[in-house]
Amino acid sequence: MWVYLDGAFVDEDKALVSVKDHSFLYGDGCFEGIGVFSGRVIHLGEHVDRFYRSARMLRIPVPVQPAELTRLIVEAAHRNGMGGSTGTGYLRPILSRGAGPLGVSWSGRIEKPTLAIIPQSGERKIAYGSDIPVLTTVISRYAKPDPASLEPRIKSNNYLNSVLAFLDAQDRGADAAILRDQRGFVCEAHGMNVMAVVGERVVSPPEGVALAGITRANVLRTANELGIAWAEASLTPYDLMCADEVFLTSSLEGVSAVSAIDGQALPGPVPGAMTRRLRDAYVKRALSGGVPVRESEGAGHR
Ligand code: PMP
Repeated sequence: MWVYLDGAFVDEDKALVSVKDHSFLYGDGCFEGIGVFSGRVIHLGEHVDRFYRSARMLRIPVPVQPAELTRLIVEAAHRNGMGGSTGTGYLRPILSRGAGPLGVSWSGRIEKPTLAIIPQSGERKIAYGSDIPVLTTVISRYAKPDPASLEPRIKSNNYLNSVLAFLDAQDRGADAAILRDQRGFVCEAHGMNVMAVVGERVVSPPEGVALAGITRANVLRTANELGIAWAEASLTPYDLMCADEVFLTSSLEGVSAVSAIDGQALPGPVPGAMTRRLRDAYVKRALSGGVPVRESEGAGHR
């Protein structure tokens, strides 16, 4: 695979970052996770915008302008064979404050941020195909840090909260962890936003309590197009347990149905009718807005 690193595309084996890189030392940086499906980069503009917002909040200057980063992401997809009608994969633009002496006190004095775009194909499947993923969940024993501790809308390289919540979910036999805030209101899953269907209405926790998911935003736009009512509201596990349907959204999982919470199966068929309807329309919308990737002429090339 060809990785973009600080100004050039290099072979994966040569894409090396210093042990003194502050993302390695402190998780000090931000990233995006972008899907490619049917040879199209999904929601590219929205991912680039969020990347710059995260970097701005971390006070890390991105070494290239947004138009150039956009071009590089599409090029990374092209060079790694994600073009053409069957092209699929995942792209991770990632920024670090850069390499510098050890110590948080150096954070304001590191001059050269590290910028990479890491491609992955094969293992990471974008769930836009005909099968709707069905996931079991648990209510996590880990709380989501509140915005005064760590603003959840920053997609930072510090994912410990999600990692620990996921491992705990796995220990408890589930696919995903649903995290609440300190007061008990649902925020999001370890790597997905959460939505409940109550009657004919879709309800989601307010945007500011979780990562401002791009899939979530586009599912809600899709709901508008279909004339489906939706609202943002504070939800507790009670609301999820008693909902007609629950689904999770993310760039990787697309729209995935939830079949159980804490070992208790949700009533009704899973995926439910609303989840299916929204997902079908959402996937069409996402693909039609996707940025086409030129097919590569052979194996990767620089
Ligand atoms: N919440 C968290 C914590 C995430 O990491 C992600 C993305 N993996 C999401 C929500 C979903 O965001 P998006 O739809 O933009 O991928």
